[in-house]
Amino acid sequence: MRNDRSLNMASVAALPSVDEVLAQPTTQSLIADMGRDRVVAVVRTLIDRRRKEILAGSLHATAIERSDLLVQLERELERFADSARREGVRRLINATGTIIHTNLGRAPLSANAAAAMLSASGYSAIEYDIPSGSRGPRGPRAVDLLKRLTGAEDVLIVNNCAAAAMLILSVFAQGREVIVSRGELVEIGGDFRIPDILSRTGATLREVGTTNRTKLSDYENAISERTAMILKVHPSNFRITGFTKTADTAELAGLAAGSNLIVYEDAGSGALIDLSGAGIKGEPVIRDVLAAGADLVSFSGDKLLGGPQAGIIAGRGDLIERLRRDPFYRALRLDKTITAALEATLEAYSRGSASAELPVLTMLFTRPEEIAGRAAAFAGKLAESVDGLNGLQVGLRSSRSAVGGGASPDAVIETTVLTLKHSRMSDAQIEEALRLGEPPVITRIEGGEVLIDLRTVSLAEEAELVEAVLKLGNVPVVK
Ligand SMILES: *Cc1c(COP(=O)(O)O)cnc(C)c1O
Repeated sequence: MRNDRSLNMASVAALPSVDEVLAQPTTQSLIADMGRDRVVAVVRTLIDRRRKEILAGSLHATAIERSDLLVQLERELERFADSARREGVRRLINATGTIIHTNLGRAPLSANAAAAMLSASGYSAIEYDIPSGSRGPRGPRAVDLLKRLTGAEDVLIVNNCAAAAMLILSVFAQGREVIVSRGELVEIGGDFRIPDILSRTGATLREVGTTNRTKLSDYENAISERTAMILKVHPSNFRITGFTKTADTAELAGLAAGSNLIVYEDAGSGALIDLSGAGIKGEPVIRDVLAAGADLVSFSGDKLLGGPQAGIIAGRGDLIERLRRDPFYRALRLDKTITAALEATLEAYSRGSASAELPVLTMLFTRPEEIAGRAAAFAGKLAESVDGLNGLQVGLRSSRSAVGGGASPDAVIETTVLTLKHSRMSDAQIEEALRLGEPPVITRIEGGEVLIDLRTVSLAEEAELVEAVLKLGNVPVVK
């Protein structure tokens, strides 16, 4: 006991000091990367952990020598630096086949939108009229484009569609009633629940109908002098099928006609153009929603529209003006770089080249035969380096891509996926190895195989992806 204790004390004395570790060349380059304070804090933690292990007797005392410890600490620091480099918002390859993947940043921006973002990142005319040299409205180009593309009298743009709903409900329905069908009291995901948003804005929810059926007369019977609004929510991420009934926008607008009731439709994703050619059926086209008589409609910028995160409110000029004047709008307004990206995205629609320019639409409209061809060529490239495959089995099979982003859960998008199996790795190990690579490759696992869907991989990323997959072949044989 005594002996162990003194041995332990001797080992503790052998621990390198913080300064010794900091003096190592590799540590110095880490400091240049991450800053001294952060590295010092990590070194302290690592040394401390060693000291505790020694004192607890779990680190074998006789094995300890100062130089060994230094090497070990350096290695741990490297590992820390590696994982620190994986933090933050960094580029990755989305091989999941889910086009609007909320965890992976939803819509990838077009080249024009990305360039516009960079160009506006310094000083820019976000709220300045260059011809007159005076203050101007905020981001009027995007508003003008949206008015033309949707037929709306006016448009207001905020941070996201959730913010749009909060603003509309708090300005027009605070202290009053909002009628919503029980079939539309949905959770969109990420804690966006219609009943919660309503209560947070001080509006009272007046539920009507049943989960599967709500008739126009249900709305009609619920209208009273307390009613401010009829809210129609696009159910986005689920579908009720079978014995169902809903009142459409035109019927609701007819019901509200001649009264002060506001008909507001939260379209969620919505679409600026008809996407039925890509297998997307249930998404309302914003122009049609307004033409059917909705007073206000809101939708996201980074879902099917294919642009940056934004919440767009389109509709009646007098209502939009009240929203614009409300102090709450000031807290939700859009940043200059995002406004620039949105403008560039909308210009593509305006030119009529959206489906060729915007990645979300390009991916949606890529024909199954084209993906199949790319997948076969990809498998061919892998097969060319037969040495590299070494235990890796690559196959092809048909599967389905997903729209994602809570849009069109029932859209059928045929695709061909590459399947990966490995003689020395489980599916989970393959998935992890790809995810922890550089750049990270995100895949999905189905039926014991790792799947790569090229629908969401750009042509420019394919070479990197081939390399990432070939690396799996180099995984050493364990034991
Ligand atoms: C996605 C969605 C929202 C939330 O939009 P964000 O832009 O993510 O805030 C709100 N309503 C509906 C119906 C949606 O589909």
